[in-house]
Amino acid sequence: MNCSKAKVLMSAAIDGELNLKEEFELTRHLDECPECRSYFQDAKKTKIIIRERIVRVKAPQNLVESIVRMTNITAT
Ligand SMILES: [Zn+2]
Repeated sequence: MNCSKAKVLMSAAIDGELNLKEEFELTRHLDECPECRSYFQDAKKTKIIIRERIVRVKAPQNLVESIVRMTNITAT
């Protein structure tokens, strides 16, 4: 996998939209690519901050579920 493919997968991963195979491939790339690893860390943080702000204003159920899914990804 190259870095631009990895970035597409990272974005999907943050939204909780990766299947197992994609998640595995992304994890493997992150293991060997420090640049993408730090990009992913930052992207996750940014997304979490944005979502927390949205939740404070208004928290529709599907958004809450996305956050729960995202939290699960972060924990693994
Ligand atoms: Zn990379």
